[in-house]
Amino acid sequence: MTGARGTGPDRWLIRGVTVAGYGGCAGGIADILLSGGSIVAIEPGLNHSGARVLDADGLIALPGLVDLHTHLREPGREDAETVETGTAAAALGGYTAVHAMANTDPVADTAGVVEQVWRLGRAAGHCDVQPVGAVTVGLAGARLAELGTMADSVARVRVFSDDGRCVADPLLMRRALEYVKAFDGVIAQHAQEPRLTEGAQLNEGEMSASLGLAGWPAVAEEAIIARDCLLAAHVGSALHICHVSTAGSAEIIRWAKSKGWPVTAEVTPHHLLLTDELASGYDPVFKVNPPLRTSADVVELRRALADGTIDCVATDHAPHPVEAKETEWSEAAFGMTGLETALRVVQEAMVDTGLLDWAGIADRMSIRPARIGRLAGHGSPLEVGVPANLTLYDPASPPAAVVPAGASKSRNTPFAGLELPGRVVATFLRGTPTVLDGKLA
Ligand SMILES: [Zn+2]
Repeated sequence: MTGARGTGPDRWLIRGVTVAGYGGCAGGIADILLSGGSIVAIEPGLNHSGARVLDADGLIALPGLVDLHTHLREPGREDAETVETGTAAAALGGYTAVHAMANTDPVADTAGVVEQVWRLGRAAGHCDVQPVGAVTVGLAGARLAELGTMADSVARVRVFSDDGRCVADPLLMRRALEYVKAFDGVIAQHAQEPRLTEGAQLNEGEMSASLGLAGWPAVAEEAIIARDCLLAAHVGSALHICHVSTAGSAEIIRWAKSKGWPVTAEVTPHHLLLTDELASGYDPVFKVNPPLRTSADVVELRRALADGTIDCVATDHAPHPVEAKETEWSEAAFGMTGLETALRVVQEAMVDTGLLDWAGIADRMSIRPARIGRLAGHGSPLEVGVPANLTLYDPASPPAAVVPAGASKSRNTPFAGLELPGRVVATFLRGTPTVLDGKLA
């Protein structure tokens, strides 16, 4: 795949960078030479004649981040986000590829719509956009969408999801798993038992009771995950579980994986850091689906991501216009933005706590999500010969308050004002910078 900004002739020498997982020398510090869109050399003390030099002293090089779960809102809700603004936000966050969820208007349930999104992504050029196809027509949960024609389209869809809604009908879920098996597809489930969450607003517990908001029980998520793990095992087809939010969900996935079943899972940055106690002031910026849970859940989600039970971090970047969020809690839309802050949040939750090292972050935020998403050209460990998709990150940048004014069209970040460590310094897509010195290139 070649985008408008992915094919530049530039040669870049990234000098003195710490390469996550690189064992070529003490401390993993090396120079990386990019040319012709690929990494052509990694070793200390490279000759840089003719190359543009980026002094990367103190920076970490990661394979370009891959998001399995982004809402770009186009077509249909360009007031919240467009492919252009959403992919710019992704690049600023260190991403070189995002999977665009299907709950647009019209829904991405035909070859025509997924091809439209794929073309918009190529035109924007900030990062690669891989459309996700809907599982059911119009996300209505009644009959299967044209999964095969979306798979055969130029967008080559491999991940299918009704995200935003659960595929609640077990027979339909079985049929979807059976259908995608033929072309190595995966069904990504938004696990939310609809009857158990009618009118639900916030995690069911002490906080929902004290605020008088309808509770969203953990079992509504866990029951669907357990059912679908059993279905995936029965069919022998790949299931991916979106935004795992409870300790019990992690335990079920751990059990399913111990059986060798074809199940993968993601967790969002916000579920790794925030809890339902933040809802105490009724600020809908903290309203999200699935809801923020308890600190005990956060501990178990972190542990599950560290031990690989949960495969990867996915943002569930869900932009909304001001009027959809700045209203009464019960009226407000579910969702939070997340692309521009994901790596900083994950540093705070996983690296600064000693749960993962930077090689682990490369695995959970690039290598595994690319593999789960069947995404060619992304998610390769940084080595000679692979496409030059990489992120340069400064983990020692002094903690700075998050400002909700980046490239995204929307401002609904729950991290606004929170001091987070780290800074994305540069992002390269096939050897060409999309971000330099923390700004769009
Ligand atoms: Zn979802």
